[in-house]
Amino acid sequence: MNEQYKFGDILDAADEIIDDLIDCKDGTVFTIRQLAEEYGLTDLDDNGLNVLYHALIEYAKSAGISFEFSEHEEAEEGNPYNIPFAVRNIKAQIKCPHCGSIDTAKYIYGKPVYSEKLERKLKEGKWILGGCKINTVHVYIDDVDLNPERHCNSCNKDFGIPPVIVAPDQKTGEDYRGLVSLIRFTFGGYSGTTEVTITRHHYCASVKVTKIPDNGESKEERPFDKKQWYDIMYYLFGPAVYLHEWETSYRDDSILDGTEWKLDLTFEDGRECHYSGYNAYPPYWDKLEKLFRSYTDF
Ligand SMILES: [Zn+2]
Repeated sequence: MNEQYKFGDILDAADEIIDDLIDCKDGTVFTIRQLAEEYGLTDLDDNGLNVLYHALIEYAKSAGISFEFSEHEEAEEGNPYNIPFAVRNIKAQIKCPHCGSIDTAKYIYGKPVYSEKLERKLKEGKWILGGCKINTVHVYIDDVDLNPERHCNSCNKDFGIPPVIVAPDQKTGEDYRGLVSLIRFTFGGYSGTTEVTITRHHYCASVKVTKIPDNGESKEERPFDKKQWYDIMYYLFGPAVYLHEWETSYRDDSILDGTEWKLDLTFEDGRECHYSGYNAYPPYWDKLEKLFRSYTDF
């Protein structure tokens, strides 16, 4: 490997590349060598390119991106680094939880150092300067920064705010992920309703599926471990779903006899939080449905 690049430098570049590939237009074509050059790994040798190639494939997979390699006559045989590939990132693209647009920009906080990349990203609407204002509240033992991660260029709203309920004093807050103790998802229409209830207990959690009317399809309450409960919490209140940034009601009254859904959260101190819809669904509906569908077939 080139002496001027450490293993860690290449992995850092791979991380930065994937971050940008999430935002690029689906189908954009690159080569590994071109990405290496663009991200500062000039004249990276074949060993280095190999490390970058494998890191990108692995990181892309966990980000929900795939690379579609095409046959290319100019490609050197046995050398994948010059073969153009199309980035397939529809699943990875970040949608605004308010309007569903994928035209969103990442906030850059602090005083940015000027670079051509910064200028280009700002011009393309991929980055937006967030200034230096720190906006923290004290949550349990941490100070949590409430600044949004992203801005939607379509509806002009911000999103990607930590799942914190700020107290009236504006100094302290509570994290949804520590408060919720019961989740009930109800989905149905004219032919019947399915209800999935997930409850946090002292040492574990459990899920119960009820069908109304019950044609023998309801399922016994099943326990699962607490880690899985927190996985659900981080899924719902993280960038997969952004639940705390949803509207509380979605309706389309133009359709009769349609489907209705409800998501009710109960906190450990009895407070409640409700989301519902009638023939209308929030932008991250498919992610929510996927979670509950994993417990039942409805
Ligand atoms: Zn929007």
